[in-house]
Amino acid sequence: MEVLLHEDLAALSDLDEQSLLESLSQRFRQDRIYTYIGDILVAINPFKYLPLYEKEVSERYKYHEKTKLPPHIFAVADRAYQSMLGRLATGPRNQCIVISGESGAGKTESTKLLLRQIMELCRANSQLEQQILQVNPLLEAFGNAQTVMNDNSSRFGKYIQLRFHNSSVKGAKINEYLLEKSRVVHQDEGERNFHIFYCMLAGISPDDKDMYGLLDPTQYRYLNGRYGSEDIVRKWGEKYSEVCNAMDMVGFEEQEKVDMMTILAGILSLGNIMFEPTETDAVRVTDKSMGWLKATAGQFGVQEEELLRSLTCTLSVTRGEAIRRLHNQQQAEDARDSIAKVAYGRVFGWIVSKVNELLAPNVDFVVELSEIGILDIFGFENFAVNRFEQLCINLANEQLQYFFNHHIFLMEQNEYKEEGIEWESISFKDNKPILDLFLTKPIGILSLLDEQSAFPQASDRDFVDKLNSKFKSSPHYEVVRSHSPLFTVVHYAGKVQYNGLGFLEKNRDTIPASIRSLFINSVTPLLSLLFQKADDNFNSTRKQSVGAQFKHSLAVLMEKMFVASPHFVRCIKPNGSKLPDQVDNKIVMDQLRYNGLLETIRIRRDGFSWRPSFKEFAQRHLSILLNVTCVVGVFFSCLSILNTTEIHGWKCGSSRMFFKYWHQEELARLLERLGKA
Ligand code: ATP
Ligand code: MG
Repeated sequence: MEVLLHEDLAALSDLDEQSLLESLSQRFRQDRIYTYIGDILVAINPFKYLPLYEKEVSERYKYHEKTKLPPHIFAVADRAYQSMLGRLATGPRNQCIVISGESGAGKTESTKLLLRQIMELCRANSQLEQQILQVNPLLEAFGNAQTVMNDNSSRFGKYIQLRFHNSSVKGAKINEYLLEKSRVVHQDEGERNFHIFYCMLAGISPDDKDMYGLLDPTQYRYLNGRYGSEDIVRKWGEKYSEVCNAMDMVGFEEQEKVDMMTILAGILSLGNIMFEPTETDAVRVTDKSMGWLKATAGQFGVQEEELLRSLTCTLSVTRGEAIRRLHNQQQAEDARDSIAKVAYGRVFGWIVSKVNELLAPNVDFVVELSEIGILDIFGFENFAVNRFEQLCINLANEQLQYFFNHHIFLMEQNEYKEEGIEWESISFKDNKPILDLFLTKPIGILSLLDEQSAFPQASDRDFVDKLNSKFKSSPHYEVVRSHSPLFTVVHYAGKVQYNGLGFLEKNRDTIPASIRSLFINSVTPLLSLLFQKADDNFNSTRKQSVGAQFKHSLAVLMEKMFVASPHFVRCIKPNGSKLPDQVDNKIVMDQLRYNGLLETIRIRRDGFSWRPSFKEFAQRHLSILLNVTCVVGVFFSCLSILNTTEIHGWKCGSSRMFFKYWHQEELARLLERLGKA
């Protein structure tokens, strides 16, 4: 009985941090990785196979009553699906499932399980279902990589929107956020490049290898000489056929696949081009790497001469006059790396837009579609060296935490006040000031970064000096005394020290016009296409910065999420060593604390998470009043309805009813029984 009770921590009356930790780890030791806090699911990564996701389990969780089965990710899928169909409660039809947790906590695995179960629920069983399910392996191959935190770490964020008409799925759309392009040219100790490079090299047939001009993997500088044991290589090889298969299923054409792989091969060769200074302070390609230059030009389908020019000099046009500025060695290397990054980034972006084209709902525009969105973004990160990418990732996590707080604490407690419900407020760690530190105009971190990025002469040091002078007294910012441009942000999840080196360049993310024309002239159709769109990314004077774009896409995402019914999955990493059956108390406790789980339990236990208006409630439940012919007014209808049931503990506000999270299920069950009777 005790175990059953613990399945929902909100049902426990006596709880502190220690007993919360104890309850969760006790369950974890019995391989019960899922636990509810009211309607929120906590999932602890088992780091081992558990027989939790078989067909038979999936069947059991379809249209089930939440209280009758142990907590499960499939139950979240069920709830989102039923809510979208309006079977569970009133409220917005569009649903969003927000999955959060730090890197390696299990967000992406949870996303895949949710997708799978939702497809099961709508009994899609069609080509579309297969296409949707294949999107993940495809995106993972190109967007995930091994990091010190996670062997399959998502290096981009994604919001998957499944679109439905009534109960059947009609299409899907992926939004991607901030692929970590810099990984293509540089990986820190213990990390790797994107999976696809290793998969391609391991899985490609000897004929294709020749066709793409690929050599032995250990030769490529961008792969850092790290390849892998035979066992790992075999797995990569298998993965390559999965990826090719996924591309076929989703609907990519053969030629597109060939082009993609050729571009990847080109990126690898490009990385091996080395430079040396000439006597005149200019730069030339070393004799040894002339072969790589030739190979790259061949793979990219561009003129060798033209490629060489865009590596070794910059052409600018001032008042109709073309001026050629020769690169020094550093500039040539930077040009090489930025070509690699932009080419990879474009391929990834193209895959996503192609997927969206292929999965777009094929329906009449008058048909109204409802939606289930699943958000899987990169988790909170704190590495030995934290760069611009980590800053953006951690900002996204701040934003999500804010969304969570807003829903769970602010909105709920404000309504109690407005509706005159007696309530002792529950305090929580509000991270709004940290969000403001980043986003406020004109003096947030991102605005200051944009301001500095607009000055061609400004340095990363200038940027950090600016931050120091503006924020030195902020409780969420710490000045770091160092020769390097370091600064610390006190995030909701802990302190992170950032290294400002490269911030301005990464934020500007401009690529010279010569590179664009180089690629437009490519004989590889895909490569030329990728650079044809005259989007403002190439207009170096008026281009929006990376920071500003990211801020904008976060705002759009939040707008979407704020008008949907949210479902939360909080993933927890049990230890820092990716090991099964081990709970590191400190690591888990830190996550419980910054996730605000204790406060969440309190508000779910004492609070009223379902708050329909009198009218909504009465309309939906009128059938419960079997024998009453006439009740005047919606308010009295609500009271009569509830008095007919055995439901206790609800409250009436001035315009709406207040229910505990479990009341929703009880009423849905009652309605169903009446419907069947
Ligand atoms: P990141 O932010 O780095 O992308 P993440 O939260 O998405 O991290 P996942 O990639 O989902 O983390 O999980 C990391 C690893 O943990 C998986 O590759 C898998 O090995 C293991 N794992 C996660 N969830 C489960 C599960 N439910 N069952 C078994 N293993 C799991
Ligand atoms: Mg992930």
